[in-house]
Amino acid sequence: MDKRTMSDELAPSYLELSKTAFQKNVSFFKDLIGPDVTFCSVIKGNAYGHGINQFVPMAEDCGINYFAVFSADEAAQAYKAATGNCHIMIMGMINNDAIEWAIERDISFFVFERNRLKAAVNAAKKLGKPARIHLHLETGMNRLGLEKHKLPEVIDTLHAESAHLIIEGLCTHYAGAESVSNHVRVTEQIERFNELCAWLKQKGIEGKYRHSACSAAVLNYPETRMDLVRVGISQYGFWPNRETYMNFIKKNHTDSAKPFEDPLDRVLSWKSRVMSIKHVEAGEFIGYGNVYLTSRDQTIATVPIGYSHGFGRNLTNVGIVLINGERAPVAGLVNMNLLTIDVTDIDNVQKGDEVVIIGYQQDQEMTLASFSEMLNNMNYEVLVRLPANLPRTVVE
Ligand SMILES: *Cc1c(COP(=O)(O)O)cnc(C)c1O
Repeated sequence: MDKRTMSDELAPSYLELSKTAFQKNVSFFKDLIGPDVTFCSVIKGNAYGHGINQFVPMAEDCGINYFAVFSADEAAQAYKAATGNCHIMIMGMINNDAIEWAIERDISFFVFERNRLKAAVNAAKKLGKPARIHLHLETGMNRLGLEKHKLPEVIDTLHAESAHLIIEGLCTHYAGAESVSNHVRVTEQIERFNELCAWLKQKGIEGKYRHSACSAAVLNYPETRMDLVRVGISQYGFWPNRETYMNFIKKNHTDSAKPFEDPLDRVLSWKSRVMSIKHVEAGEFIGYGNVYLTSRDQTIATVPIGYSHGFGRNLTNVGIVLINGERAPVAGLVNMNLLTIDVTDIDNVQKGDEVVIIGYQQDQEMTLASFSEMLNNMNYEVLVRLPANLPRTVVE
């Protein structure tokens, strides 16, 4: 079924989400965590640029029914996009004024301040419906999280208002599980979290889920998986960083006769089409100014992508795209809405041919890593900066 709408047809470029790739990544994680651990799909930052509206129904189709967002506005978007009976958890920002809205929709949220706990109780009483909360415990990140000295008062409230609160989770977050340079800090956090959970249990406080792991923690510290894992970057097919990938290979590459196969596939592709073709004689400048001089008779393809779409101006003369399964260099300045590409050495390029900016074409891949190395950015940042207004389509 073609899900592209008229406004999609009008757009100069588009993103495709591969359901097969996503399914593969989820299977990889489910094998790793086993049947007793819940997989929570982290979709903050517009599903890491993949688009909440398209990503959520696709993930539901693949059996995911637990999602995590940063803020209430993202929760609202996910709630609207969801087709089935999934749970949404807000890990960060929700105004006290929006708590009633969340309770009415069974959306759970992190509690890291006594003030928010009080607001949750008040809203729950008013609605006659309990609030679903996750107690976010401070373990050493020192960003958000309830410190231990605040817990006695919190425990009193939890007991006194137990009719109005459902403790969905006890949770924490690690300060850099992707790098061995943080090993001491992270292991101390794990220990601290376990101690706090045990201490709370003694006081009669338990959550439905104990959860702490992001992608890197799931991969590098199996003991952090507990009851639920919050997987962001890796479900989209990216390793949190190179070190985590190397670490995984070292542990899992047992047959040295075979090359190691990446168990993750990239879900996202970014594509466009050749807009026009022009033959330019040797000794001519291409585009604005004197940035690119033809050294021979050349064929130049224009592609309707530019820095307004996130294709950085710093890719002038160095960016690469795929056309007809071949790598084609940017020739000249990256414009606001246009690229000029040298296709002289590629056979028979036609107007309308597919151009791949990120993703696969025949046996070539433009990785986000190569794109982001050119931009000197990390995967997370490149992904979330993909413009929200580019159309996104799910493909098999
Ligand atoms: C973003 C985030 C995650 C997911 O992190 P990844 O590295 O993308 O897997 C998990 N937990 C919290 C609290 C987060 O903010």
